[in-house]
Amino acid sequence: MDYFNKKTVEDLNILGKRVLLRCDFNVPFDTEGKIANTRRITESLKTIKYLLDRRAKIVLCSHLGRPNGKFDSKFSLKPVAECLSKTLKKEIKLSKDVAGEDTRALVESLNEAEIVLLENLRFCKGETENDRTFASELASLADVFVNDAFGAAHRSHASTVGVTEFLPSACGFLMLKEISTMTRILKNPTRPFVAILGGAKVSDKIGVISNLLDKVDTLIVAGGMAYTFMNSLGYSIGNSICENDKISLAVEIMAQAKGRGVKFLIPVDNKVGLEYSKNTEFKTVQSDSIPDGWMGLDIGPRTEVLFKDALKDAETVIWNGPMGVAEWENFSSGTFSVAKTVASSKAFSVVGGGDCAAAIEKLGYANEMSHISTGGGALLVLLEGKGLPAVVALSEKNRVV
Ligand code: AMP
Repeated sequence: MDYFNKKTVEDLNILGKRVLLRCDFNVPFDTEGKIANTRRITESLKTIKYLLDRRAKIVLCSHLGRPNGKFDSKFSLKPVAECLSKTLKKEIKLSKDVAGEDTRALVESLNEAEIVLLENLRFCKGETENDRTFASELASLADVFVNDAFGAAHRSHASTVGVTEFLPSACGFLMLKEISTMTRILKNPTRPFVAILGGAKVSDKIGVISNLLDKVDTLIVAGGMAYTFMNSLGYSIGNSICENDKISLAVEIMAQAKGRGVKFLIPVDNKVGLEYSKNTEFKTVQSDSIPDGWMGLDIGPRTEVLFKDALKDAETVIWNGPMGVAEWENFSSGTFSVAKTVASSKAFSVVGGGDCAAAIEKLGYANEMSHISTGGGALLVLLEGKGLPAVVALSEKNRVV
């Protein structure tokens, strides 16, 4: 599908209009309840400022977590409203409900270049059910709809797909940046093109692997998913995570890679632990001899060097998924090593998924990356070569509004 036939915010007449702007403010929080990473908020500023400059009356909306269709103060967007307000040096009015009386009153009272943030969309069941009545209520708050929520673009929800039935709709600058970056890389990468896939399960990334096998020069598979591949090669993998029903698929993938001349790399050594726990005893062993009772929880030092070498001449790199259980210090070395290598590489580098982005940010390398995606699931859908429902639903450029 050609994403570029979709309207962007610049194609809409928004001067002084009421704009419903869907953002992805689904930010992580630390143990003290403070926003741990504001990237998703700061990345939305370009579209918000563009609308403010055109004196739009802005009705912002987003989901946060999974409150299951009812109000729960734990999932309130209040911290987001405060953060945005501080960043923009502007009052952000937070509505008490989502599309009810309080919201209506606030939206009615909006002057030009003012902002209302609706409470968490997922406080209403209609949001995730893509309920048509709820979508029409949301749409009735505005004259036009702009979607900048890349992180939620793989969901067919009322605020991402439903509203587009009722309003002229376009993508915002962040959505456009995410999609155009990925489309360009996947269609016309500068070579050598290396993809690094990690994370827990092969089953989550089968579509990505199949699509990338046609495009990359080197495919690195690590993290929990690598053990299914090792098992398929007859290695003993101890208690490492393994999807037995995907073993023949792993064999097929490696044969396809060979047939297409794609260099396929899995770890040659691993940090293994006695239990799946943060402080478990651990040691380093070769990939073909993980002892009974031990499980692979990170790549080992020889693999760090192997991957570093594979990335040495890369001109394009996509990295999605950690090399091990990176949230535990003892098993974070592989993920940090890849983060360092990718950050110091001259390649055009794209990183997606919370764990990889967190490693990059923790090391202070965010500015060294060409693009850190705000999406997890949405990015995987693009990497699978599929369309995103929320983007498919947007108005096309040639439609007269
Ligand atoms: P994903 O969401 O698919 O990118 O997976 C991320 C999760 O994979 C993280 O929470 C990691 O803890 C987990 N993970 C990575 N490597 C392993 C491993 N060797 N064994 C178990 N879980 C892993």
